[in-house]
Amino acid sequence: MVMNGKKGVILGVANDKSIAYGIAKSCVEQGAKVAFTYLNDSLKKRVVPIAEEFGSGDLVYPCDVSNPSEIKDLCESLKRDLGEIDFVVHSIAFAPKEGLSGRFMDVSKEAFGVAMDISVFSLIEITKELKPIMSENCSILTLSYYGGVKYIPNYNLMGVAKAALEMTVKYLAEDLGKDGIRVNAISAGPIKTLAAAGISDFRFMLKWNEAHSPLRKNVTINEVGNSGMYLLSDLSSAVTGEIHYVDSGYNVMGMPAVKFDEEGKPTIAWNGEK
Ligand code: NAD
Repeated sequence: MVMNGKKGVILGVANDKSIAYGIAKSCVEQGAKVAFTYLNDSLKKRVVPIAEEFGSGDLVYPCDVSNPSEIKDLCESLKRDLGEIDFVVHSIAFAPKEGLSGRFMDVSKEAFGVAMDISVFSLIEITKELKPIMSENCSILTLSYYGGVKYIPNYNLMGVAKAALEMTVKYLAEDLGKDGIRVNAISAGPIKTLAAAGISDFRFMLKWNEAHSPLRKNVTINEVGNSGMYLLSDLSSAVTGEIHYVDSGYNVMGMPAVKFDEEGKPTIAWNGEK
């Protein structure tokens, strides 16, 4: 029970397909007490039963990160109900639809600002607001994707946001390291979630990753959850500022595996061929 005695908050559960759900499950299975937040009233209906399933029906709070007063209120509620916290999970991202398809240069200044505010600045703001109630050895985790490092079709604006998020992790890691607080990210392979549904041709992305990852499979929220739990636990006590890939190894590939037909023409290995 690696998380025995640990208390923390997980922001970003929308339903039981969310990556944040996988992280919560793994933390609770390992003994943690988890508080949850929800974006709005329609998601509250989904998040409350999930919190109950994890024994935290009394630890569910509203938090729209675009509203600074809701972040402040969250801090007050956590202080009242949990006292100190040992971990924080930021599993939140949003970009207006116009930023997730078409020509990248057509993105508006407004859409750019919204994506950066919700997907990146919120990590800084949450860290700053919750810092007074963080315990020594507190661990903070956020979620990124490979589209923040290399071009991925249609990921467009979110790719730029993830690049900024990954650097935010590194600067926060240095800033908070002197207080014993760690900050890491998991760069997860593609998973079919609510947020992923906003990305054009996402099904192709899934097929491509399955075919071209060393492990020839897509990742699950349980696998991301287990790696997330490790980064939140004391098992990773000397790990900070890290972007940890949980992507079946896709990021190490420099070229897709190729097979040759009878005429010697190369074709891309497909459908998870071994
Ligand atoms: P999801 O839709 O289940 O979770 C996204 C969450 O963001 C939702 O709970 C939503 O309520 C929340 N959110 C959006 N705007 C918000 C706001 N203003 N205030 C508070 N919360 C807000 O999808 P997911 O795939 O689990 O996404 C979680 C994280 O994982 C995101 O950062 C996403 O970019 C990242 N990620 C996803 C994938 C993937 O393929 N699904 C891969 C790598 C990284």
